[in-house]
Amino acid sequence: MARKKKLVDLGPTPLKVTCTSSDCENDLHCFRATKQMKAVNQVGACRECGARLVDWPRVYEKDLTDASYTFTALKFEMIRHHFWHIEIDQKAVNYARRKGVSGLYDAVRSRLRKSVGRANDPFDGRQTPMAGSGNPIHYAQHATASCCRKCIEYWHGIPQNRSLTDDEIEYLTELAMSYLLERLPDLSSGGENVPPIRMSK
Ligand SMILES: [Zn+2]
Ligand SMILES: [Zn+2]
Repeated sequence: MARKKKLVDLGPTPLKVTCTSSDCENDLHCFRATKQMKAVNQVGACRECGARLVDWPRVYEKDLTDASYTFTALKFEMIRHHFWHIEIDQKAVNYARRKGVSGLYDAVRSRLRKSVGRANDPFDGRQTPMAGSGNPIHYAQHATASCCRKCIEYWHGIPQNRSLTDDEIEYLTELAMSYLLERLPDLSSGGENVPPIRMSK
């Protein structure tokens, strides 16, 4: 009985958002180019509806003083939009609170280096869990398109066949931190003590 009630409460199957999801009628697109789009020079348009919504040269400037435009553009893509609005799981929130702002900066930088710093990683595309991972940096990476080298290439104009430079790591770190500070506005600067979540009583 209890189990049945729980199933009912869950409502419709939760929407599974992937890198290639789109809902163009609601202005949620997907800009990852298909092979055909590359062949006919349609890179940059939505792969589903063909809409051209992003000023790519402007985004590729990687100018932090213009980051608000980059964030506006990112939110036209369904997968990014999803991660800008999804609830951040409690374990991930606690992780961020323990680190605080300065600890998170270090953790973001180090995660970017390890997960997407190298060229031609055979594991590329699978290195950043989608959600509920307990790590807020994963959410930030999906929201700001530093989750894998394919996303970094089309969103930030950095080719996949070389390592990221220090400047690029710093740029992507700042984008991820902007996301984290917006989503988790009450973080302390140096971190705080947060007890672990009790799984059961
Ligand atoms: Zn579209
Ligand atoms: Zn990606």
